[in-house]
Amino acid sequence: MTELPIFDDDDVNRLLCIVAHPDDMEYGASAAVAKWTDQGKSVSYLLLTRGEAGIREMSPEKVVPLREGEQRQACTIVGVEDLEILDFPDGLLEPSLELRHAIAKKIRQFKPDAVMVTNWELKMPWGLNHVDHRAAGIATIDAIRDADNPWVFTDLKDDGLEAWKADKLLVNGADPTHAVVLDDEHVDRAVRSLEAHAVYLEALPDHPLPSDMIPGIASEAGTRAGVKYALPVQVFDM
Ligand SMILES: [Zn+2]
Repeated sequence: MTELPIFDDDDVNRLLCIVAHPDDMEYGASAAVAKWTDQGKSVSYLLLTRGEAGIREMSPEKVVPLREGEQRQACTIVGVEDLEILDFPDGLLEPSLELRHAIAKKIRQFKPDAVMVTNWELKMPWGLNHVDHRAAGIATIDAIRDADNPWVFTDLKDDGLEAWKADKLLVNGADPTHAVVLDDEHVDRAVRSLEAHAVYLEALPDHPLPSDMIPGIASEAGTRAGVKYALPVQVFDM
């Protein structure tokens, strides 16, 4: 095991979290969000799809309001008020110009210091990654650059949205370079934020218990960082 340096989040005050689905932030990342909102940092979630294809036995019409409600509850538990859910198709997400435009627009509106995203690699420690997670990650990397280039998506400038540079990219669920130190309360709220996706989790009988899974992730990274609990993150300077 390598030693993980502590991520210095003192200078990061505005964080934009971009994920494909309702629930994607709740696999560990929301513990760091609970810490950051406690510290008075501004955290915004941008979901690219409404997760309508996420429950096999339930129609999209029923799933959409249900999962939005569960996500809002999860957000409340970790102190996030700014939740925006876009309408790209669940299961069919592509790293298209349309998606990059939508993400770049949000970056120029929210003006984050750091963007957080889920891992876009095909091979993950647990198996093969979902297409939407791959597309969300790749589109986000490109959109961070798009948002910073005044000559890309110039229509945004016409809407008064000037170029904006997000300095850092934090990747959740990737081979970590750093650790965000957490305390027990942050981990506890992350557990509850995942539990908020109650109907979604009910439809996945083999899913591990949030109360086992989240402390497991946080204590493994914590051990590598020399603390009790931490969120493992891969950090890039943009
Ligand atoms: Zn997902």
